[in-house]
Amino acid sequence: MSSVKKHEFKTEIRQILNLLINSLYSHKEIFLRELISNASDAIDKLKFTSQTDADIIEADTEFKIKIKADTFNNTIEITDNGIGMTYDEVMQNIGTIAKSGTIEFLNSLKQSNNKEAISAEMIGQFGVGFYSAFIVAEKITLITKAAKDQKGVKWESSGDGSYTIEEVEKEKRGTSIILYLKKVDKNEESFTDELTIRRIVKKHSDFIRYPIVMDVEKEEPVKNPVLDQDGKPIEGQTEKVIKEETLNSMKAIWARNKQDVTEEEYTEFYKHIARDWNPPLAKLHFKLEGATEYDALLYIPSKAAADLFQQNKKHGVNLYSRRVFVMEDCEELMPSYFRFIKGVVDAADLNLNISREILQQDFLIKNIRRNLVKKIFELLSSLEKEKFISFYEEFGNALKEGIHTDWENKDKVADLIRYKTTRSEDKLISLKEYVENMKPDQKDIYYITGENLSMLINSPHIEKLKDKDYEVLLMTDPIDEWVVQALTKYDGKPLKSAEKGDIDIENKEEEKETEETTDKTKDYDELFKHIKSELSDKIKDVKASIKLKDSISCLSGDTYDMSAYMEKIMQASGQKMPTAKRVLEINVNHSAFEKINNVYKNNKESDDIKTIIKVLYDLAIISEGGKIDNPSEFNTTVGKLMDYSLQSNK
Ligand code: ADP
Repeated sequence: MSSVKKHEFKTEIRQILNLLINSLYSHKEIFLRELISNASDAIDKLKFTSQTDADIIEADTEFKIKIKADTFNNTIEITDNGIGMTYDEVMQNIGTIAKSGTIEFLNSLKQSNNKEAISAEMIGQFGVGFYSAFIVAEKITLITKAAKDQKGVKWESSGDGSYTIEEVEKEKRGTSIILYLKKVDKNEESFTDELTIRRIVKKHSDFIRYPIVMDVEKEEPVKNPVLDQDGKPIEGQTEKVIKEETLNSMKAIWARNKQDVTEEEYTEFYKHIARDWNPPLAKLHFKLEGATEYDALLYIPSKAAADLFQQNKKHGVNLYSRRVFVMEDCEELMPSYFRFIKGVVDAADLNLNISREILQQDFLIKNIRRNLVKKIFELLSSLEKEKFISFYEEFGNALKEGIHTDWENKDKVADLIRYKTTRSEDKLISLKEYVENMKPDQKDIYYITGENLSMLINSPHIEKLKDKDYEVLLMTDPIDEWVVQALTKYDGKPLKSAEKGDIDIENKEEEKETEETTDKTKDYDELFKHIKSELSDKIKDVKASIKLKDSISCLSGDTYDMSAYMEKIMQASGQKMPTAKRVLEINVNHSAFEKINNVYKNNKESDDIKTIIKVLYDLAIISEGGKIDNPSEFNTTVGKLMDYSLQSNK
């Protein structure tokens, strides 16, 4: 068996090799990841076998994967001291047996018309493992020795349809793969370059559990320096030494058992992956076994990143498969409203070369995502109050997006959102607490949206509600406008804007008051018509208000109208839209209004009435934080009114 034997590759493999060699594949560097991954698996297999066959590891117990780069000869060699392969195994594994994905890969290739363009994309979708080395190598030599074998095996191929195999002398157990690299263009990275290798290992294989080492040249002080006249070493005497350096951190703490990881390790790992100086607020570490097998280590940062609300903000969960990096910022794993979550998901049965397009459809990924989301909701609702509020202050606005983007989990998000209210004294309360605090006769959950708290709390729209001691949610974030569009009910109770339409006040006393108001309205009918015609370009109607107590006027919209705040937000974002006309509500119980009506009855066309109508409208605008058309005119008018009302004090 000692002679060199030449074999043809199987047809499928020949096709694949042909493709790889000629492809314009841009992610060439993945070959190193594939080889390192195989090496790591080989060490795993050895350790596993040694559990039942202790003799298998009689020497060479310092497990590692070594990379040797030779710039002069343009070669790179990857060596492991894993299980190695017998002659038959090499025959089987490398060259004869097509892997499960191979046929699929070739089929999809046949279906595509544009072979050139598709090939690069396809390579990414199917694992091509060992063969990916042919993307960068014109010839590959593999030398291996199985643990208990006497002889080694040498396999060699230029990827041109055949390979040779022979027995060789090899001292140590394990596998060496030597790649004779293709020449690269001047502007391309060379894979023999130390920094390039470091970068690739760090990016793709940092958490491989065995050291990935490389001999690097270092400048060190010489051992026997020349001395000066005083017998002291002359400075600056250095020599080049070769030292073996470990390139990967190996700290895949997500793959360890919870009880074996210290808090410091968790925090350090978080800081490393999140590039954050602050410790995380909370973490979630779990292992799922069964049909869908994966490890997850997720963190909630304590501070929101500055770009949380920037468009195309990257997600923070990286995807691994058996400690091998697959993809960073994997948005398929997490809904957008959880984009601040950082961490790692390591799914055992994942194709390393899976593309984003495939990932979106992937059943396994969908399953994992559903599960992660569930676990995060559990974590958030189990946080102690203080911690939760601190979380909410940082990420509440991102979380709220879930209400209108994630129909399935809308209720869970609704359970987590918090608002300040007219009665909460600056504290954030949940909708659940709101409902618990509702008055016995109260049917709806009231809210009001606007720019700031003090404006909302003093809004004329909620005067009556406050008077009745009904609590009102104060919503001050632009996103709240979208929240209330999607969240029309909570716990069966409708959410109602205090600013829109009529408030449903139904107890006996109020009914009487409403009737009285209606009576009065008849009296004011003519004046209302007059106000409506004077302000016809601004409002669509005038009516007696049942919301107002101290204020004299306010503007309200219909239930499906845009709120004043929403209109402001849209305008601020540069969206041009017709401003919807609203209804001017008048507090007919206000003592001034009767006087106004009298003035009107005396002289229907007087300038005073014109001025007063303008002021009624401007006051309504001002009280909701809006801008009036002519502030200086308003100033003059109010000045005159003051003068008038203070005349008796002359
Ligand atoms: P995969 O790793 O996805 O199975 P590869 O084409 O990369 O596919 O490798 C084929 C097989 O060759 C592996 O399953 C393994 O049995 C064997 N093999 C590859 N590299 C090594 C290695 N460094 N040591 C031992 N066996 C290896």
